[in-house]
Amino acid sequence: MAESIAPSGIEKREFKSELRQILNIITHSLYSHKEIFLRELISNASDAIDKIRFNSLQNEALLEGNRDWKIKLIADKAAGTLTISDNGVGMSHDGIIDNLGTIARSGTREFLDSLKEADAASRPELIGQFGVGFYSAFMVADKVTVVSRAFGEPAVRWISDGLGEFTLETVEKAGRGTDVTLHLKEEEKEFLEDWRLRSVVKQFSDFIEHPIVMDVEKKGENDLKTIEEETLNSRKALWLRSKSDVTAEEHNTFYKQTSGDFEDPLKVIHYAAEGTLEFKALLYIPKHKSFELQFSEGKTGPKLYINRVQIMDHCEQLLPAYLRFVKGVVDCSDLPLNVSRELLQHNPLLEKIQKSLVKNIFQALEELRAADYEAYVGFYTELGNILKEGLGRDWANREAIANLLLFESLKTEKGKYITLAQYLEAMPSDQTDIYYLTGEDRAALEHAPTLEAFRHKGWDVLLLSDPIDDFVFPMLPDYKGKALKPADRNAPELAPEDQKKAEEATETFKPLLSLLKEKLTELKDIRLSKRLKESASCLVADEGAMGAHMEQLLQKLGKAEGAPAPRILELNPEHPAVQSLMKLHGANPADPRVETHGRLLYDQAVLAEGSRLANPSDFIRRINELLVKDGQ
Ligand code: ADP
Repeated sequence: MAESIAPSGIEKREFKSELRQILNIITHSLYSHKEIFLRELISNASDAIDKIRFNSLQNEALLEGNRDWKIKLIADKAAGTLTISDNGVGMSHDGIIDNLGTIARSGTREFLDSLKEADAASRPELIGQFGVGFYSAFMVADKVTVVSRAFGEPAVRWISDGLGEFTLETVEKAGRGTDVTLHLKEEEKEFLEDWRLRSVVKQFSDFIEHPIVMDVEKKGENDLKTIEEETLNSRKALWLRSKSDVTAEEHNTFYKQTSGDFEDPLKVIHYAAEGTLEFKALLYIPKHKSFELQFSEGKTGPKLYINRVQIMDHCEQLLPAYLRFVKGVVDCSDLPLNVSRELLQHNPLLEKIQKSLVKNIFQALEELRAADYEAYVGFYTELGNILKEGLGRDWANREAIANLLLFESLKTEKGKYITLAQYLEAMPSDQTDIYYLTGEDRAALEHAPTLEAFRHKGWDVLLLSDPIDDFVFPMLPDYKGKALKPADRNAPELAPEDQKKAEEATETFKPLLSLLKEKLTELKDIRLSKRLKESASCLVADEGAMGAHMEQLLQKLGKAEGAPAPRILELNPEHPAVQSLMKLHGANPADPRVETHGRLLYDQAVLAEGSRLANPSDFIRRINELLVKDGQ
């Protein structure tokens, strides 16, 4: 960051470059939703009050006797300025540089890229999801002044026009806290009007716990004008009210205000736990994957309140990471108010609350599926891949998570789903295990040669094409007492008469197979297949080995260690191509075409499973030899 100090004591600094670009886009591409600047600044002020209130629980001196928590809006029509003033924690000289001079968020780069790609109409939504916070001030102001004082620090004034530079100087300020003054652009002067401020606060910040006040002129007796401080927000803590008292509209507003989502929540979970442990929970399941979750891990956990005092913005101890898409508030009065963050780490009460929340979320999702299946499918396609992480991470709940999963299968149409319970119900009596196959997409999976025997038998196979499936399904060894098995490493047993036929074929093919094994040394084994019906060949892995798709994924991620494990080539003795190879070998085992044709059968198996040929030019040469021969 460039820096220079003028003789006047005013420092001049530049914004970090990504921030400059973001500022530019925010100020120039937002045509609607401009009023969210007020929500963002009020929410910063409210956070600042929460912070000092929390810190003062350990050290009361920090309060400096000022605990009349308040966020004040001051509209100065003569100066054309709107000030948002709070008596919160304030910022020091260095704090202000760190907080207002950089965006230290993960995902900033991605945000910038997607903003550039997005059309003008969808930009406000993206910006809203990202929560640009303080910088949204530049949507309505051409200059912003921040005067702030933190406990035990000199006050500091920050000024910027949002174009690339800001200045800093030490000033005097009586009370602790922050005043953010917006020098409104000519066309944004309506934000100086009482009615406009009232309505924006009502719409976006009604549930903020601290009073948002404004001085208004009142006409008293004899038309005498007096100035009165009016509180603009109703400050109703929704989660403390009884479930039946809260309207859907109130939930929608509260959810949007606290989560930054532009859409209504999909499902509300609101309950009060009573008995040995008392707490209130108000949780929301979103309709979509938030911007944050699309580009980063995201933060886990609802806000934690103790008796209406916010202790944490995201309490990780309250939810497992695979439920990080759930937003909301938990308010518990059984925790001590002066609880430190360290103490919260392994607090048994929080563990109990977590158990209850998780159970209620599972229940809510089950209810949603029963009541509004289409909405559930919408939820699952957006957020199911996060939920699935739980299979690997939450052993105790894996069956409950498995209950919630949806699958496409050999027997479903594309885009239609079944549950594991439905799979079990439809299972024929001679089938004892649950089978699944992982792969690139449905089309590739459907045509996998390894599934031919399953199709032939009428056994269903779950088709899994989410990259995470390869990692999580091995962690679900069974469901309701039935084993889950990868279909490419397990095949249905043959009927006794087929078994006999297979044994005979094994004998007949023995010399050919041993010759091929000598030539195709990169393979672990070559054997006759019990699973192929239409295809001539396929590749399989050993029962305990990694599947082909998992290996491809690891390679893509650069995480594959060493060379891929050697595979097993299976040939279909009934297939004309394999039989013709058998004939070639029978006529003259030394015929070089035996190896060439054997290799072609290997090549097709590689292609059929969606893998890449190690040497495509060799394959092309072999094919061309055949083509030329055919024309002769
Ligand atoms: P966010 O609030 O999402 O972190 P912002 O850009 O809105 O992002 O604010 C950046 C940081 O500046 C905040 O995290 C906070 O530390 C600080 N900040 C902003 N407004 C205030 C305020 N009124 N009082 C104290 N600190 C503030």
